Amino acid sequence: MTSLSDLPIRDDLRGQTPYGAPQKAVRIALNVNENTHPVPPEVIAHVAAAVERALHDVNRYPDREFTLLREHLSAYLSAGGASPIVGPEQIWAANGSNEVIQHILQAFGGPGRRVLGFPPTYSMHSIIAAGTGTAWVTGERDAEFTLTPDTAVAAVRRTDPDVVFLCAPNNPTGTPLGLDTIAAVYEASRGIVMVDEAYAEFMPAGQPDALSLLPGRERLVVSRTMSKAFAFAGARLGYLAADPAVIDALRLVRLPYHLSGLTQAAAVAALEHAPTMLRTVGAIREQRDRLLVELARLGFAPHDSWANFVLFGGVSDPQATFEHLLEHDILIRDVGLPNHLRVTAGTPAETTEFLDVLARMNP
Ligand code: PMP
Repeated sequence: MTSLSDLPIRDDLRGQTPYGAPQKAVRIALNVNENTHPVPPEVIAHVAAAVERALHDVNRYPDREFTLLREHLSAYLSAGGASPIVGPEQIWAANGSNEVIQHILQAFGGPGRRVLGFPPTYSMHSIIAAGTGTAWVTGERDAEFTLTPDTAVAAVRRTDPDVVFLCAPNNPTGTPLGLDTIAAVYEASRGIVMVDEAYAEFMPAGQPDALSLLPGRERLVVSRTMSKAFAFAGARLGYLAADPAVIDALRLVRLPYHLSGLTQAAAVAALEHAPTMLRTVGAIREQRDRLLVELARLGFAPHDSWANFVLFGGVSDPQATFEHLLEHDILIRDVGLPNHLRVTAGTPAETTEFLDVLARMNP
């Protein structure tokens, strides 16, 4: 049998591990921070009709510029009035924000260049760095996984990165990130500063997000996704907002027609129902806050979270707890932090079952 090491693979990929969230068929999947509420039936009908219409043109390549989708994403980001208007010329999209992030590193990272991240953070950031031949360099965090302007700026000065990845709120810790830290990192750096806001919709209502920092900052990029609050993970649609010049740079590295006509049609149709798609966000925030209270009551040490998941410490044997939950058909995530596990806030019934199984383990 041929093994990977027998192949003429790139030297810098030897010994690397692929993205590893286990995919198992379980009744209660609280492991990859999806929205566990299904898409409302009226939206399913609307998306299905849009995809059917798109199928009539599927003999042709799709709109390479995904014009209609960019208009809808622009309208979505600009709705509500809290953030500045983000025009369609400031929008980029791809098959999940993972691909958006890959485009950023293909254009602004690459061999001989460095991207700075602040672990523990989203595992794909360093994996995409490896895939694009970008050196992954790291900075420290402050107490409770926070990141103050001083600490972040010190890391920028020490490593002089071409790209900085910030994650707000941070995965896997849930930790909020202050706009002061983002602004300070931007001032201190010469490169692209990307804020991964995959979980932005779960932040407290009315809280300013990184979009508010975009005006006048042409090296700032804010990435988002329809995979979390929007309940559209299986459709694969991520996007970013940035200066139009950044979008021009991304056109240099994307494959032509990277967003299929069916994906574009489905995403546009879902965005036409944005308020319906997002109506579970309040309920999910409630379950997250319930997890924070109840996990502490059970003797664990949950960390503050502005996302749709909770990282909790005080787990004496994470592997045993993980396995015990799995025996009850509940899948959560061991993110590799000693004595910690991470759980996604599910429906009220899912959260109840998770807490009940844990409580019976720790009487
Ligand atoms: N960024 C963060 C912080 C995430 O947690 C995730 C998904 N786990 C992603 C990006 C990628 O999401 P997607 O590719 O589905 O948009």
